[in-house]
Amino acid sequence: MLEFKTTGKSMKDFDTAALKEQSEWLLRTKSYCAVFGVRTAVFLVYFLFQRDFRSFAVVYDNADLKEGLAEAKVRGGQLWDAFESRTLPSMDTRMSDMDCYWCPHIKTHCPTQEAAVEAMKKEWASRRKPRKKTTR
Ligand code: SF4
Repeated sequence: MLEFKTTGKSMKDFDTAALKEQSEWLLRTKSYCAVFGVRTAVFLVYFLFQRDFRSFAVVYDNADLKEGLAEAKVRGGQLWDAFESRTLPSMDTRMSDMDCYWCPHIKTHCPTQEAAVEAMKKEWASRRKPRKKTTR
């Protein structure tokens, strides 16, 4: 299966080891692979600041696929219940607070999540390196 991702991380620091730290990406693709009956996930990663792509392949073993299938069943059940009851899914169906960043429901349904999003923005800002001045 092919998974497109974007990241604000630097391309020069991103390798297979760095990919393996993206536990949410891995868990999600383990689930997709388990459901579709394949073992290989290819990540096509777009590096936002370098404006370039790099691809990585991960081959999951039986234990990974078992974990992925269990996750797919739990999350699928939660999402289906929410769909049938016409309610928003519970917070534990999200992968992380990052999902709230773009969510159109944050102000109306989850104002308590605004603090988490603000904290995330501050953390990103604190990690941002100052741009080098270029002379022309
Ligand atoms: S703001 Fe609320 S509804 Fe939106 S992703 Fe976050 S927890 Fe879910």
